[in-house]
Amino acid sequence: MFITDLITYSTVRIECTFFGGGARTGTGFFMNLCIEEDQYIPVIVTNRHVVKGALTGKFCLTRKTSDNKPDIGNFRFFEIDRFAEQWFYHPNVDLAVMPIAPLLTQSAGEGESFFFSPLAPELIPTEDELKDMPAMQEIVMVGYPNGIWDSVNNQPVFRKGITATHPELEYNGKPEFLIDAACFNGSSGSPVFILDIGKVTTRSSGTTIGPSRVKLLGILYAGPQHVASGEVHTVEVGTKKDMAFTAIPNNLGNVISSKALLDFEPQLKDLATKGRRPGRMEPCPCGSGERYKRCHGKIV
Ligand SMILES: [Zn+2]
Repeated sequence: MFITDLITYSTVRIECTFFGGGARTGTGFFMNLCIEEDQYIPVIVTNRHVVKGALTGKFCLTRKTSDNKPDIGNFRFFEIDRFAEQWFYHPNVDLAVMPIAPLLTQSAGEGESFFFSPLAPELIPTEDELKDMPAMQEIVMVGYPNGIWDSVNNQPVFRKGITATHPELEYNGKPEFLIDAACFNGSSGSPVFILDIGKVTTRSSGTTIGPSRVKLLGILYAGPQHVASGEVHTVEVGTKKDMAFTAIPNNLGNVISSKALLDFEPQLKDLATKGRRPGRMEPCPCGSGERYKRCHGKIV
């Protein structure tokens, strides 16, 4: 499949319900972490604020044809109870991952398999690649703005934009950067890509015609919004359908640098080895020396 076609199968629309009847939608994407030879841990990635506190979560996967292609329009809904408890939460940035191997194994047992296209850590740009990237790169963001999707074909929506600050730099001292793209509610958790087809531009070589390049620059989580008083606040690109809306997004978006995804690997490896999460008082698997409850198990 062509790379952009594959990317349409890398995202998943997440619908959550909350205590008191609230609901929200966000974007998740599939990723394989902890890759070692033929072993890996498949997860869904989204923002912490999308799933935190959710009672139930619903998403759907497109079934596979017998010749390993997406059977477009034929998909299955999964509804998961105690949804918020299924996720690992990043202690410092607005990210969460949910291991999906149990769900896939169970589905396989029921004779079901799905077509989706997980991203891999090799798509995360290296420091050298970031250093060689000129400012103002074209980017593509894939997701479900305002919850909008093609619900007949289970397809996400592509949006284009540019990097508004350089992804190599920590914007205002945080591990994030800004993009200029239409960043709406429901886009929370959208992967942000550099998607160069047949033309790559670097600082060292200028523009080269021929090669293509795909890089996962980061994950959208917030955006500056103008409120009625004329001030500008950065708020989570969120989410609640029942929120009274007085703020106007200004087409900028805050994007968490993709390297933060690798921070989940020690916890995922620990889960894979032990088959359970650490106890609250046990040492954190990340190796910080802190107890789990004070580190990656911290409830934030
Ligand atoms: Zn830790």
